[in-house]
Amino acid sequence: MGRLIRWAATVCAALVIGLVGAPQVLGFDGFGDATADSTYDLEMRFEVELRGASPDRLELLVRTPGSDASFVTPVEPAGDVARYVWDTSTDHVTPNTLFTYQWRATVGDEVVLGPEETLRYEDDREGLDWQEAQLGEATVHWYGDAEAQARRFGELTAVGVEQAEDLLGTELAGPVDVFVYDSREDFFGALGPGAREWTGAAAYSELRTIFMWLGGGSASYLEVAMVHEVTHIVFFDATDNAFHGPARWLNEGIATWSESGDAGDERGIVEFEASGAGLFSFDAISEQFPIGERGGQLSYAQGTTLVDLIIDRHGREAIADIAAAYREGASDAEALEAGTGMAADELYAVFYDEFGVDAPAPIQAEPIAASNVDRPTAGLIDEGGVDVDPAAPPDSAPEQSPTDDADGASLPLLLLLALAGIAAVGGAVWAGRRAAERSR
Ligand SMILES: [Zn+2]
Repeated sequence: MGRLIRWAATVCAALVIGLVGAPQVLGFDGFGDATADSTYDLEMRFEVELRGASPDRLELLVRTPGSDASFVTPVEPAGDVARYVWDTSTDHVTPNTLFTYQWRATVGDEVVLGPEETLRYEDDREGLDWQEAQLGEATVHWYGDAEAQARRFGELTAVGVEQAEDLLGTELAGPVDVFVYDSREDFFGALGPGAREWTGAAAYSELRTIFMWLGGGSASYLEVAMVHEVTHIVFFDATDNAFHGPARWLNEGIATWSESGDAGDERGIVEFEASGAGLFSFDAISEQFPIGERGGQLSYAQGTTLVDLIIDRHGREAIADIAAAYREGASDAEALEAGTGMAADELYAVFYDEFGVDAPAPIQAEPIAASNVDRPTAGLIDEGGVDVDPAAPPDSAPEQSPTDDADGASLPLLLLLALAGIAAVGGAVWAGRRAAERSR
């Protein structure tokens, strides 16, 4: 299969070289005006004027905050304009995302780049007559009659930022936007599919944006939630590095701890679970929290309680030292050791000891048994004159995927597979972008 794919790649390369080498009747003479516009939940539309003849190749480069790689898409010019429409009705984009885009034309060996422009994807749904006010580092946005509540959130942003800056030993790196939604439908329409149903507020740290829902809880809950969310943004700035995001239990633990300056009710949750179903390993909650209510609650509670323990035993400066280590690219274990002087496993052991339980041990996966499903007998498959045997039952050849041997497959199929691979890589880029932090 490797040989055929290499051959297919050579054919593709030859096609591209052929296009680049095509003679020009009248040369491409640069870009005219570039414009972009968006309609929430429908589309983003990018347009550019082309001077002279069409270039050999035209591409649109789009980048989102926090990403150092661009999404590149080829665009076919239509006369002296080119247009790219991004369907956001199926590919959800979080409102207030600031896109940076640039057009790129290739003529022969020459590459012409248009100027970098930006498009802010605004939530312009009907009925949302946004108003805004600037309060210190925060711009609060509201609609309807939520002005007083929005201004209160703005004041709390300043309180939360100051508190988090003091704990983390850094400063907020830029302004913050706070959007206040009145109805559940409007709020979840902004968060998009996949948001947990129990979400009442959310911070998208890379977008420096917080979404608040007025129906998310009582007035006092919302005030605490506001401090929690803005702490996430200061934490993001304090730990920003090119390698990885810090442990989620630590991020949520610090945000929850900051609500009241101690572990609050979270300690009781850990005590209750320690005497019941047991506690989680911290490695198990360093990336994602469980979806279920009990698992989610316990993850927040363990994070908050361990943060409280670190501050209690090693002082507040331990948190600033942990953040500083992350900025230098430390792993979770290295950062915890930089702050506490203890190996991460020792620190965790102290935590479990405090609740009278052993540290959870890894569970060995059970081997997957052979299939006991009765399969109908299949005959030979006729494919382009090549007889391909039906795949062997998995229990008779467990080491080898029956689709590995594709020497008999036709070239168009291989090209399709290669294209599907390229599409999958593009999808991964956007999956990465959508993985921007979302929290309760
Ligand atoms: Zn959170």
